[in-house]
Amino acid sequence: MTPAPDKGVRPAPAGRIVIENCAVATVDARDTEYATGHVVVAGGVIEAVGAGPAPDGLADVVRRIDGTGHLATPGLVNTHHHFYQWLTRGLAQDSNLFDWLVELYPTWARIDEPMVHAAASGSLAMMVRGGVTTAMDHHYVFPRGAGDLLGAEIRAAAELGVRFTAARGSMDLGESDGGLPPDFAVESTEEALRATEEAVDRYHDASFGSMLQIAAAPCSPFSVSTELLREAAVLARRKGVRLHTHGSETVEEEKFCHEKFGMGPTDYFESTGWLGEDVWMAHCVHMKDSDVAAFGRTGTGVAHCPSSNARLAAGIARVPDLLAAHVPVGLGVDGTASNESGELHTELRNALLVGRLAGGEKALDVRKVLRLGTYGGAQVLGRAAETGSLEVGKLADLVLWKLDGIGHSTIADPVAALVLGAAAPVTLSLVGGVPVVEDGRLTRVDEDAIAREARDQARRLARIAGLA
Ligand code: ZN
Repeated sequence: MTPAPDKGVRPAPAGRIVIENCAVATVDARDTEYATGHVVVAGGVIEAVGAGPAPDGLADVVRRIDGTGHLATPGLVNTHHHFYQWLTRGLAQDSNLFDWLVELYPTWARIDEPMVHAAASGSLAMMVRGGVTTAMDHHYVFPRGAGDLLGAEIRAAAELGVRFTAARGSMDLGESDGGLPPDFAVESTEEALRATEEAVDRYHDASFGSMLQIAAAPCSPFSVSTELLREAAVLARRKGVRLHTHGSETVEEEKFCHEKFGMGPTDYFESTGWLGEDVWMAHCVHMKDSDVAAFGRTGTGVAHCPSSNARLAAGIARVPDLLAAHVPVGLGVDGTASNESGELHTELRNALLVGRLAGGEKALDVRKVLRLGTYGGAQVLGRAAETGSLEVGKLADLVLWKLDGIGHSTIADPVAALVLGAAAPVTLSLVGGVPVVEDGRLTRVDEDAIAREARDQARRLARIAGLA
């Protein structure tokens, strides 16, 4: 059967790409590294990776790249984001999560399809030019009559050429039902479930190398009814897709759960069918020992968002404890209204820095952090058999970082240069063997046009929402 074009399926590129003379950090199970090594790509898949030059006599080589002065790593995987927030950066600068949300909901409730396409293009452009090869978005604001918002971001991801998980979010618990969002910003439970199922049927591609997957993603315990949580879990398991939400982000959320449900967030999620190896949650900052153990026992994943957690003064997630309990942990930019930088390098660096502030100098090291940003992210998105490490047979999702320039040439260890140094220039980024970045520029879209369009749509939103 020919897959529907909606699912973004594309043919594998022809010929071989050979990359040589670079340092290689494979992020395989043994953290194998080569001081000088090679990677051979064929048909969109990694055919060889190892020390020294590539094997002699390779046929059909369409491109040979001299990686001298570079480090090759798996492409970065982002596990939590809200693209639409690209249009509302720099607002509510000094607020905690609940105050920030209450200030921004009325503006967000005015978004429409052209705004979401512009915001998604801007968000994705920022991440992809910084080495992200697998992106995700958690979109949960669907104002009535706003157009096809999920379709707009799926279109943007296809235009950039990045692998994408679109988490169809939802909110059905408005203020009059005891929730945090205003009533005009929420959908009915039935609408949310129906639209989620339609998105799965239309877009979800579970095949190896899929460019597009859908997850079911009610927003949070304080914006979603218990019924929607339960039913979304049933729907996701019936359809074979993953579940995503926000969990244990702040003390205010913890208090809300105790007052409304008589238990903490993790116990509440467990009672609604929301712990399991097909589930990943953003933040997971305020976790008791028993919560960490429950995540480990069930294989529930975590999207760690250190910059957003710091911006909103939410706290520091217990990443070393989560890893010790065998919880899959990836990194997340989170929405750019709470992390204006919008790129994943900041999360690598901040994961290490805030991790050490909380847990001491041995809490995390640069290699563990690179693993969070690559293989760990692939695990929480359910893609670890396909991407997240440089191994024979996996997808050629890889980045060649330039480390011989002014920012990095004197940092002894290439992985330390990548994590602790300034954001390194990307000489080449491949998604399934297809270049999406060359010499620091996006190859498939016009970055300047995206910047202009995002600025124009941000101004339009500010005008409509009465901010400007
Ligand atoms: Zn979020």
